[in-house]
Amino acid sequence: MAAGNAIRGTRVGSGPMRWAERGEQAPRRSITYWCANGHVTEPAFAAEITPPATWDCPRCGLPAGQDEQAPPERPRTEPYKTHLAYVKERRSEEDGEAILAEALARLRQRRH
Ligand SMILES: [Zn+2]
Repeated sequence: MAAGNAIRGTRVGSGPMRWAERGEQAPRRSITYWCANGHVTEPAFAAEITPPATWDCPRCGLPAGQDEQAPPERPRTEPYKTHLAYVKERRSEEDGEAILAEALARLRQRRH
């Protein structure tokens, strides 16, 4: 019984870990990233974390890098544009079908 209590007393949660959980004492540092459009973003990371090489720009979605002079290149496929193009394509396809159906209906009416 006494041995069990001793082990319980040294369990994680009763030491310096509590400070980290609260997030108050954890040291943070801001890393500056630049995107290809010249936007600057400064996300803060916990000091013990190695910041990623690139960070998505919150303003335009492009990847941003830590070197202002050499930001990461734009990805070849831009998700927003691709999606928009897809929607446009679908819409024109549907419109085209509707126009075609209308034209066919008129042709049939003329024949009667
Ligand atoms: Zn940007």
